[in-house]
Amino acid sequence: MPSDKSTKQILPEQQKYNPQEPTRDTKSSHDNEVCPVCFGTGVEILPKGARPCGCRATDSKRKAFNAARIPRRYAGCSLDNFKSEPDSSQDIAFRYACRLVLDYPAVDRGLLFMGPVGVGKTHLAVAILKGLIDKGVGCLFYESGSLLKQIQDSYNPISNTSELRVLAPVYQAEVLVMDELGSTIPTDWVRDTIYQIINTRYNDKKLTVFTTNYMDEVPQVDDALETARQNRKLTNRIHELTTLEERIGTRLRSRLYEMCTKVKIEGEDYRKRLDRRRFDSSRI
Ligand SMILES: [Zn+2]
Repeated sequence: MPSDKSTKQILPEQQKYNPQEPTRDTKSSHDNEVCPVCFGTGVEILPKGARPCGCRATDSKRKAFNAARIPRRYAGCSLDNFKSEPDSSQDIAFRYACRLVLDYPAVDRGLLFMGPVGVGKTHLAVAILKGLIDKGVGCLFYESGSLLKQIQDSYNPISNTSELRVLAPVYQAEVLVMDELGSTIPTDWVRDTIYQIINTRYNDKKLTVFTTNYMDEVPQVDDALETARQNRKLTNRIHELTTLEERIGTRLRSRLYEMCTKVKIEGEDYRKRLDRRRFDSSRI
């Protein structure tokens, strides 16, 4: 939310426009901008009659977008600017995303985007939310680690929030994106909490879209482990050496099979890296 100061710097003209206006009623909840068409009344006066001002639709869309909590670094991500080679796994993932936006609400399964870092999983997930927000669907984005952190923080006695206050919007959102599933070190509490959240949404028949860096299979485990051991880079390669099921538990992985279509994305970088690793291993 912009500060008063920055807003004033951006909007000197509108503020000078009608200094007598009682500004409290004409301000939007987000800033000090007064609509130059309706002066904040929400009604545009025409030569013959009046009609609802276009700013109200924009305002409600902006509110819905803000309520979705999409991180600023992904705010520009949309289906329009997703780049993929024809018939690549990214292209297939893109078509799944478009299909979901197009078909919603006649959709009974979410999506699980699986793939390494940097292949556009979060871009697609955010693009889905934005497409759905345009359709008037209430959406919410959460990075799974930050959700868990907020829940943990709510246990602190001096915290001014409660677990329920954190979780209520997560349960209620019509469509939720849970980004980076499995990113938190899996303790019993982590697994139970994530399972409870996802299972509640499943029982309420609410759609959830997931992204994860973890796959269902670990490629060439022995070679990978051996290479990692020799390079002492095990922690850097944890995504490649651990399955999603190992990260989130069997119970949740099977729940995800029921509620989501798995969409595997393999980036060019990823394939190159795997080939290089096989090559390296064969020389040892
Ligand atoms: Zn207006």
